[in-house]
Amino acid sequence: MKKRLEMLEQLQEIDNQIDVLKNAQNGLQGELQGMEEVLVAAREGQVGLEARVAQLEHEKADLEVSLAAEQENIHRSETNMKEVKTNKEFQAVGREIAAARKLATEMEEQILQKLGQLEELKAELAAKADDLAELEQNTAKRRDDKQSEINAVQQDIDTDAERRAAITSQLPANLLKRYDSLREQRRGQAVAIARDGYCLGCNMNLPPQLYNSLYRCDELISCPHCQRVLILKQQPAA
Ligand SMILES: [Zn+2]
Repeated sequence: MKKRLEMLEQLQEIDNQIDVLKNAQNGLQGELQGMEEVLVAAREGQVGLEARVAQLEHEKADLEVSLAAEQENIHRSETNMKEVKTNKEFQAVGREIAAARKLATEMEEQILQKLGQLEELKAELAAKADDLAELEQNTAKRRDDKQSEINAVQQDIDTDAERRAAITSQLPANLLKRYDSLREQRRGQAVAIARDGYCLGCNMNLPPQLYNSLYRCDELISCPHCQRVLILKQQPAA
């Protein structure tokens, strides 16, 4: 029975170690995911800027088509002007030309505005493209490093799992079942140290008779308060 208790204690130590390793691994996975998210956001930002540039180019092209049409109108009106006979007609065509010129000027201003915006956006896009390229490169390197760390932790977990299997293969199934369900119910701790009359799992006082029977090590004894399997560990004599 003493041997069984020792094995349970070892099992608990290994499981605690595995829990710590898995937590560390989850943390690393989270960091890896965080890195990917930053990269995705940067790429999306870039795509957004490119779309904005394309939109502005499109608007500029539309304006240029309209401007060309308006200039064509002006040209036609100016040609017509040479053939008008009456003063009234002359004035009407004159007004048409003036209106068309005003419109053309407005369009030219808008085109200039778009050009200015495009220049700014393209400069921003170029700067961001450099940043993104750098980020891509850094992330690739850091991703590899992080993955190596995760793999290294996995190796430790695998080693512990092997040690665990070596122990569990020697323990009876019903005891393992009890151990597993206790671990589930008691935040991973199925085994508790008993010392100075107390269960250190729940810090409750143990009945003296039960505490004394722990010295005999002839049966597995559970704490009556938290049900953890008790392992007697005396304080080293001062
Ligand atoms: Zn207890």
